[in-house]
Amino acid sequence: MIVIMKMGATPEQIEAVSQKVQSLGFQPHVVVGEKLTIVAAIGDQKRPEPDVFELMDGVQKVTYIMKPFKLASRDFKAEDTVIPLNGTQIGGQQVVVMAGPCSVESREQMLEVACALKEAGVHILRGGAFKPRTSPYTFQGLGMKGLEILAQVREETGLAVVTEVMGAEQVPTVAQYVDILQIGTRNMQNFNLLHAAGESGKPVLLKRGMMSTIEELLMSAEYILSHQNYRVILCERGIRTFETATRNTLDLSAVPVLKQLSHLPVMVDPSHGTGHWELVPPMSKAAVAAGADGLLIEVHPDPERAMSDGAQSLKPERFVRLMSELRGVAAAVGRSL
Ligand code: PEP
Ligand code: MN
Repeated sequence: MIVIMKMGATPEQIEAVSQKVQSLGFQPHVVVGEKLTIVAAIGDQKRPEPDVFELMDGVQKVTYIMKPFKLASRDFKAEDTVIPLNGTQIGGQQVVVMAGPCSVESREQMLEVACALKEAGVHILRGGAFKPRTSPYTFQGLGMKGLEILAQVREETGLAVVTEVMGAEQVPTVAQYVDILQIGTRNMQNFNLLHAAGESGKPVLLKRGMMSTIEELLMSAEYILSHQNYRVILCERGIRTFETATRNTLDLSAVPVLKQLSHLPVMVDPSHGTGHWELVPPMSKAAVAAGADGLLIEVHPDPERAMSDGAQSLKPERFVRLMSELRGVAAAVGRSL
């Protein structure tokens, strides 16, 4: 249920509504918009009667969100969520590119790629320290050493950093080293991890499960949002289909669907979405044209020797060219890059 406050409702009136929400066994979430403030009552209790609130001072009206996801829904918040980070705004007018190697392999590798990316206009560096690999016998990531490298490179270059966190118990540690916590496709429904990421208060990049529906993705976002952590970034990264020509089937229609259903920023990962570096530039352009707020792209200084996902990684020179090509596409849809 959402309680829409009158224009000019006082902080005391908003607080009184929040208290009432709480006293009825619901969790209050207050969103102060440019024009209106709303108080959402979230919980699985029986709906309170609307006049419990409608009779309170400062209340304009009461409505209900019919979708199973509430805080993630556009009905809860009509305006786009914009997340300021390191001089850019995720979900704003600019298309934000997060790029870097699949895995952190060494300080030299990260520094080399980070400098090239920064030069190309990237604000956020990616790199996995803990890798969720299909086989236990393949490279599992540098772990803590990888986090330290990310923190050093962040310090030296001024780039913000995103890395994957695989378990709830890792969240407090990883959160100390990076700017954005990534939850990978295999963990989209790891509910303890979602709770922990929500509690951390850090921005979270939530990747769509490879066998998950759009609604399930939004329900997972809801877990994080329910901790009053509203800085959630959704990411389409390809889903399993019968098609084998690509590693996954990049569901670009998820972009406008998510933008319709939710106020959260939507990114696209064409690297995992296709599995082949040659397909990354065309699908990046298509993603921007479809309205994506950002791209997550794997870039490696020497893809043939990459410890993971070399086949889908762009060399820095190709990435730089892609960035300039993307500027034209972004401009055509009224965005910058
Ligand atoms: C990654 O970004 O390196 C990764 C493992 O992605 P996904 O969870 O989408 O497979
Ligand atoms: Mn990867």
